Amino acid sequence: DEAQAPTTAEPVLELDGIAKRFGSEEVIGDLSLAVRDGEILTLLGPSGCGKTTTLRLIAGLEKPNAGHVRLQDETVAGDGRFVPPEERGVGVVFQDFALFPHLTAHENVAFGLQEWADAERDARVDELLELVGLADHGEDYPDELSGGQQQRIALARSLAPEPEMLLLDEPFSNLDVDLRVEMREEVRRIIKETGVTAISVTHDQEEALSISDRVAVMNDGDIEQIDTPQQVFQQPESRFVAGFLGHASFLPGEVHGDHVETALGRVLRDDVHGLAHQYDGSIVDLLVRPDDVTAYPAAEAEADGRVVYRRYLGPTVLYRVELDGGETIECMHNHSDRIDLDERVGVRVTADHELAWFPADHRADA
Ligand code: ATP
Repeated sequence: DEAQAPTTAEPVLELDGIAKRFGSEEVIGDLSLAVRDGEILTLLGPSGCGKTTTLRLIAGLEKPNAGHVRLQDETVAGDGRFVPPEERGVGVVFQDFALFPHLTAHENVAFGLQEWADAERDARVDELLELVGLADHGEDYPDELSGGQQQRIALARSLAPEPEMLLLDEPFSNLDVDLRVEMREEVRRIIKETGVTAISVTHDQEEALSISDRVAVMNDGDIEQIDTPQQVFQQPESRFVAGFLGHASFLPGEVHGDHVETALGRVLRDDVHGLAHQYDGSIVDLLVRPDDVTAYPAAEAEADGRVVYRRYLGPTVLYRVELDGGETIECMHNHSDRIDLDERVGVRVTADHELAWFPADHRADA
């Protein structure tokens, strides 16, 4: 399902002005975030930016130094209140799954249901095993299950007590590459089938873009942008977000009325997102991703630059072209394409969507 969470849904979780220090090190500065009912939100960012700490603050495994955490309108941290993890109604799926090795799959899933009546507990466990596709594996022990099956059991165990919210910390990092892609689909399906609100943490942009309704891109203890996968990829609000979500080249150009004059020729102003008339005369950097440009072998007189890097990636080939003006542009072609290293090429902007742009004179703080 490609449906986005409705924008009007009430927040299930709100972080408001959160700060977190470890000793003298401030890991989270002033972080605010609202998570909507039923959405899958992913915190994405480089190692050390504070993703796991944010997840632990939500779970109640860390106490904020400032700010509030609200779950379903109840303040669970802040104003002198601190609700412990087990009373927050939040399920956590840990990176290493953390299954109990001496308990069967069925017993693992039943673990959080000790206060339930036997018949109801067994029915609930069966329902969960069915949901995660392991109805026939209830009597297996964790070491008899594959990595993907262990992850399904971990997910079932966290979902069994019907949590308000599910937290997943780097959920796919312990799986083989092949299995990761399959389990992304499965985890999204299972979460959507239960309707639980979920927050996941990863540093893998493809994973974030593929499983999430919205992605919060974090940098240095703060959220730089929170948007749908397509928005953060195509309309990044900062150069950091642009660069973190994929290959990004910046093509400088001068705005002249209805077009931008660049080293690769004219780009129509209407093809650049939100580039208003008031920027006439100013220099901007257009964000061009490898899919947005096409290179072709060219005679010297028509060439724009030279291929300085060529990497065969299987289905595609990535080229890096050094333009004669000094800028570098990356382009991605079909694998059957043959342009050689050092070849002189022409390059054209061939994007079929509006380009994002950044003001060139705010390079340092953009
Ligand atoms: P990674 O992807 O590497 O896990 P992350 O974005 O999840 O990174 P965090 O684990 O939240 O980052 O850590 C952010 C910073 O806080 C790091 O510099 C880390 O060393 C520090 N940190 C986290 N937990 C503690 C702790 N308990 N005591 C001291 N420092 C900590």
